[in-house]
Amino acid sequence: MTTPISDTFTTQLTAMRQDLLARIRAQRGGTRSRADAAADARDMASDDWAKAGEEFDLSVALEEREAAELQAIDSALQRVADGSYGLCLQCGTAIPTARLHAQPTAERCVHCQARAE
Ligand SMILES: [Zn+2]
Repeated sequence: MTTPISDTFTTQLTAMRQDLLARIRAQRGGTRSRADAAADARDMASDDWAKAGEEFDLSVALEEREAAELQAIDSALQRVADGSYGLCLQCGTAIPTARLHAQPTAERCVHCQARAE
């Protein structure tokens, strides 16, 4: 089932997905690989260990956030494909188009989202 509305969001979601993948690739192929960071950490004085730990946590958190974002985009695209896109997962109400434009991966109406947070 394809409507002009879902075409618009498919285009938007696909663009978001490509941006995100490009960002993840840029990070992975960045100037510092994890192996380099680990080698630096080994050379550090013990005082620096706590700081190094923080940096590792940060990069893991970043990847988790991006993985979650990718997951949200993929499941939105899946909902477009099965025709349930734009319906609140919780109460089934149609999510206003304005909200979807602002956040194409929105899974809940404003009401349910507010209750979930
Ligand atoms: Zn709802």
